[in-house]
Amino acid sequence: MTLIEKIKKGEIPEFLHRIAEDEEIPSAVLVEKILNGEVVVPYNFIHSPQKPVAIGAGMAIKINVNIGASFDKEDIELEKKKIDLADKLGADAIMDLSVGRDLVRIRRELISKSPMPFGTVPIYEAAVHGAQCGGNITNLKVDDFFTVLENQAKDGVDFFTIHSGIDLEAIEKLKKDIRILDVVSRGGALLLEWMIVNQKENPYYQYFDRVLDITKKYGVTISLGDALRPGSIFDAGDVLQYHETFIIADLLKRAKEADVQVMVEGPGHVPLHKVEHEIKSIKEIINNAPLYVLGPLVIDSAAGYDHINAAIGAAVAGYTGADFLCYLTPAEHLCLPDLEDVRDGIMAFKIAAQAVNVARGKRKYLEREYQISKARKERNWTKQIQLALDSDKASEYRNKIPPGITDTCSMCGEYCSIKIVEAFLTKKGNEDCERSSAVEH
Ligand code: SF4
Repeated sequence: MTLIEKIKKGEIPEFLHRIAEDEEIPSAVLVEKILNGEVVVPYNFIHSPQKPVAIGAGMAIKINVNIGASFDKEDIELEKKKIDLADKLGADAIMDLSVGRDLVRIRRELISKSPMPFGTVPIYEAAVHGAQCGGNITNLKVDDFFTVLENQAKDGVDFFTIHSGIDLEAIEKLKKDIRILDVVSRGGALLLEWMIVNQKENPYYQYFDRVLDITKKYGVTISLGDALRPGSIFDAGDVLQYHETFIIADLLKRAKEADVQVMVEGPGHVPLHKVEHEIKSIKEIINNAPLYVLGPLVIDSAAGYDHINAAIGAAVAGYTGADFLCYLTPAEHLCLPDLEDVRDGIMAFKIAAQAVNVARGKRKYLEREYQISKARKERNWTKQIQLALDSDKASEYRNKIPPGITDTCSMCGEYCSIKIVEAFLTKKGNEDCERSSAVEH
């Protein structure tokens, strides 16, 4: 049963009250937004994540952390450490993008490890299954796609990325060579391969009712994936991207009618000056459903620093209407991220999310900024470190070059502007200054 069906029967699960309290809104408002499709709470009752979150209009913006093994590095313990780190740093959701030999075991172990909502891209497992059966994805029968979907739902996956929006018509458009980078979505590329070889329509599109049957039965939230998201800033906002967005908007309506929670995935690579227009246009087309953006990256040349590149796009996207930010790491486009890359990616996106939530006037987030500014004025480093988004890193830097004068930092020492101004503006400061001068001389 889906969360929407439960609500319609008059059952409001306790976790919705907790979420509403955390968002500082009445539970009734949260429930109304879930019912009208502006907000989703990915929650499969088989997993029952300990830290469920609301994603959508009027909520604080959330961030997702992608993890997952690959054929080149299939290390479950490392992926579990990434979940621990994401939880410690305050990420809101986990997506397992594993491809490898033992996907079912990896997924089950990672789901049970994750206190946060847990998402997957089921076509990856379908493709690996095809390869393990001696062929590749093109050998899969339509039923195989849905068997994987149901198995994952039974394992407790809270949300699925389903690339239902790429169709045969889009492939004909792609053949006209109108893009720099045709398809950069891994799921999209696999579907395209299956569709071209089998000369058949995308099964997730043609049989979308089967997607709905499974997600309805197990209460899985659908994330309508953008197989045709731009992979170069020069492809942003092109005919293919919007061809898919309009298909997604139709499927979204069907999901809502079926009482299945649904969100939409967005771009991709988008130059800075186009981000606001893109976000507002997509939100309008999808009738203000929750929008989950992958970055967006605002330039194509930041390899090694794509977490920063994408966080810039994410901040603008969030400020102009996106609801859910998928992090990127410095390893994007280059290799499987290690733990340090995951930390850097999460922090870049925590900063983007904090900036958005402050700009949206969210009290809790503003309060943190206010308190840290006060602690900075008081030159109270214990409090500043405690309030920092990454306390470990702040502490590490504070101790790197210890200050000679302990109520300053080693950047300016006796020329600490905050201390100088305090000395001349307040009596207390004058006394402190005299005292420390006496000690120093
Ligand atoms: S020493 Fe300089 S950098 Fe450090 S707190 Fe004072 S003004 Fe800021």
